[in-house]
Amino acid sequence: MEGRVLTCVYCGHEYPQETPAWGNNVLTEHIKVCEKHPMRQAEATIITLRSALVGLVGSDDPKTLDGIEAAMRLLPAPDADKAATINAIDALRKTRTARQS
Ligand SMILES: [Zn+2]
Repeated sequence: MEGRVLTCVYCGHEYPQETPAWGNNVLTEHIKVCEKHPMRQAEATIITLRSALVGLVGSDDPKTLDGIEAAMRLLPAPDADKAATINAIDALRKTRTARQS
């Protein structure tokens, strides 16, 4: 490993051997913030889809979502419509991140 440099395959960022914790999880930590990592595109897609769902459901607030779900279950609407809305609410809950809380 003498003289080798740890390099990100997505952006080319290099970590010289002298970097603290070189070879440990420095690359794992970098991937979380690397602008060119494919995960950034996936995150952007999730944000787009979430925002479309918020527009359909009408809210992103957890308490409001609980209320919408409760009302939807009581509403005399076709089961398929209820299921679609409840699934959308569930998707909003499951894709909520710390940043959105
Ligand atoms: Zn990178």
